[in-house]
Amino acid sequence: MNTENTQSNQTSAMKRVTILGATGSVGQNTLDLIRRNSAAYQIASLTGNQNITQLAKDAIEFKADFVATADDKRYEDLKAALAGTGIDCGAGRTAIIEAASRNADICMAAIVGVAGLEPTLKALETTPVIGLANKECLVTAGSLFMTKAREHGAHIIPVDSEHSGAFQCLLAECPNNIKAVTLTASGGPFRSHSLKELGQVTKQQALKHPNWEMGSKITIDSATLMNKGLELIEASHLFHLKAEQVNMLIHPQSVVHCLVSCKDGSTLAQLSAPDMRVPISYSLAWPERMQTPIEPIDLAKIAHLTFEPGDEVRFPCLRLAREVLESHNIAGPVLNAANEVAVEAFLNDHCTFMAIPDIIDAALDKLSGIGSNHDPQDLNAVLHLDQQARYLAFDLLKLTA
Ligand code: NAD
Ligand code: MG
Repeated sequence: MNTENTQSNQTSAMKRVTILGATGSVGQNTLDLIRRNSAAYQIASLTGNQNITQLAKDAIEFKADFVATADDKRYEDLKAALAGTGIDCGAGRTAIIEAASRNADICMAAIVGVAGLEPTLKALETTPVIGLANKECLVTAGSLFMTKAREHGAHIIPVDSEHSGAFQCLLAECPNNIKAVTLTASGGPFRSHSLKELGQVTKQQALKHPNWEMGSKITIDSATLMNKGLELIEASHLFHLKAEQVNMLIHPQSVVHCLVSCKDGSTLAQLSAPDMRVPISYSLAWPERMQTPIEPIDLAKIAHLTFEPGDEVRFPCLRLAREVLESHNIAGPVLNAANEVAVEAFLNDHCTFMAIPDIIDAALDKLSGIGSNHDPQDLNAVLHLDQQARYLAFDLLKLTA
């Protein structure tokens, strides 16, 4: 056997993966899977923000071509950490965009927040497969994003576990067979709290998710149920569903991720252990599947699966997101920006847990007229609305502080 040829064939068959947000929870889980499947995947570019040590360590281990930190003040640190490796690096917004634009077969879009929108839109232009973890892209700019993906022929493979489940259930279905998609939510750490108790919860309690290990922003979103609200909007764009076709159910065991009901009375479901490596692996291997260390679930062991409706009185974020969904997602950028500011404030002890929905509600109230004549069809319009909502949310925070 000619080993040289076999090796070069292997290299050319390897998929090149760029990870936007490599140092985060989804990014690190993606690297874990690539490390376990190193014959099939190699890293093109990696991006991060403040954690230069992790970013450089991963870039060296995975022999990245290009590495970028979002913080332009950290360029010298990154350069020093990569000295002698020959790995190209950059810093600031333009460097993140460069990482997103460089040649790759798959881009894992795992930056948190609206900061992920511009680079992911850029990645759509050149990368055939986008593993979409960053739900904020679709919440803030769903129509723009999906239109651009279609124009460039990019495949969007959802990484959010519920949407990955729906994507898998929908593979063999004609769109007109589908009646509704139901996303499940664990209910977070405060599922059974009364309104009074919710008024007293702490940051430490909110950061303790019962089932999932995630970054701090999405963990707080899971505690307020805003995460599920954002996901309803995300699902409406991904699967072209009307507001009344997207529902949610509280399912504390986080085993069933999604239910798809069809017009003939069948309901399809996707089940797996609550480990993000299942949906991440699916987006990396699509349309195949890859070996992962996660065992299929054992229903006899689990024994009980329970479901209950979401409570929009105790969890007003769910109501606010549903209202945005019902009004065709036009206020998506406002909902998202006010939430990002309020969650950050809560994490910095600048407001209470229940002030989060109050701030979002007030921002939506004040800004709902702006841009309501049309769905923002360009990035600048989305970012302008985002900025206005941020200023307003900061002002509201001063009032509530
Ligand atoms: P995280 O906070 O753990 O990581 C965020 C990543 O984004 C880090 O690499 C960070 O360096 C980078 N980043 C932060 N600010 C940035 C900026 N301004 N510019 C560029 N990069 C920046 O977040 P996460 O939990 O991995 O979540 C990432 C995305 O995936 C979020 O949109 C989240 O909603 C979604 N998601 C996460 C999970 C999960 O299990 N963690 C599940 C479903 C969906
Ligand atoms: Mg999810």
